Amino acid sequence: MPVAISPSFSAEPPSRCDSVWRGATLVTMQDGHYNLIENGAMAVADGKIVWTGSAADCPVFAGATQHEFSGGIITPGFVDCHTHLVFGGDRSAEFEQRLNGVSYAEIAAAGGGILSTVNATREASEDELLAQALFRLQPLLAEGVTCVEIKSGYGLSVESELKMLRVIRRLGVMLPVEVKSTCLAAHALPPEFKGRADDYIDLICETLLPVVASENLADAVDAFCEHLAFSPAQVERVFNAAKALGLPVKLHAEQLSSLHGSALAARHHALSADHLEYATAEDAQAMAASGTVAVLLPGAYYLLRETQCPPVDEFRKLQVPMALASDANPGTSPALSLRLMLNMGCTLFRLTPEEALAGITCHGARALGLQETHGTLEAGKVADFIHWPLSRPAELVYWLGGQLPCTVVFRGEVRGEFR
Ligand SMILES: [Zn+2]
Repeated sequence: MPVAISPSFSAEPPSRCDSVWRGATLVTMQDGHYNLIENGAMAVADGKIVWTGSAADCPVFAGATQHEFSGGIITPGFVDCHTHLVFGGDRSAEFEQRLNGVSYAEIAAAGGGILSTVNATREASEDELLAQALFRLQPLLAEGVTCVEIKSGYGLSVESELKMLRVIRRLGVMLPVEVKSTCLAAHALPPEFKGRADDYIDLICETLLPVVASENLADAVDAFCEHLAFSPAQVERVFNAAKALGLPVKLHAEQLSSLHGSALAARHHALSADHLEYATAEDAQAMAASGTVAVLLPGAYYLLRETQCPPVDEFRKLQVPMALASDANPGTSPALSLRLMLNMGCTLFRLTPEEALAGITCHGARALGLQETHGTLEAGKVADFIHWPLSRPAELVYWLGGQLPCTVVFRGEVRGEFR
């Protein structure tokens, strides 16, 4: 059996595999770059990639199913590392009201804004939340998302936060997609705690998080560090409680103002700091030192018609890994397309197409702590990938929205084809 040389293979070739995929250019995204393998081949066994390289060097695997594409590219499955897809109701009526001249203050006074989502989420049953989330997840899955993070944060009570987290866990069991669950109870102050934010933080730290951990309902803990949400000192208490329970942390930081939440996140070795429009050079340095991923969310920037961009040049210079995500949520980013975020990341934040694609593959995976198993096409990673009949990876970024034809493979099996 010939010994193949490939970027991800240095020992003896595997003796068996279930399937071989060839006839396309592999966009491996190793080390955050395209790292193309033209006329590539990939062997898959037990849902994992066991060999990648040039088709000419591919070992002969007796009995393996052969999949032959006629050109095109294969990318890693897409990772949407920041979403709020589980919530009750939607805010399309408010969207319309605002464009008809009704002010934010009037909408808030009438019980609108995040409070309306909290109320609708609290009132909804687990099954209702599940059905609504399925409706929103389908478009993401159709365009190639194979791994998605979903946050709680619209329940804002022990009971309702646990309900949201159970829905998130059920989605991961029901659907052919890897779902990571994040507890974002420190998202907003619930109305019954008005003026008592520290008491609500106590409830999160002392009552909610221990249950979340003991019932294995979350893979990480998040918070919203902002003047209209929680202070760095309050966030730090949540982080300390999460870490004591063995849960990694991440943070919504520097979206609307600079509180140096991203540097706080870095000090706590957070998986990621997200939004970051107002992050400073010092924040970026702290993130670089701790390996904290910068998650950029152009959907919210776009919808809020913000003008302050995240410091992309600083992140690039300091080699802070940059991820991109949909931030799918009812208020500021009702985004049901991750591929649209690729284009927005480039047009609004001036990422290169290669950086944008890394943002929803390898760096998106890193923002979830999945860098060892997801996000690139290389031996040892899960066999989540997408075939596109496109000439080059920049096309994924260039076409503005819409559903491109593709074949999505999840854990080595064809999950869906769109032709
Ligand atoms: Zn968010």
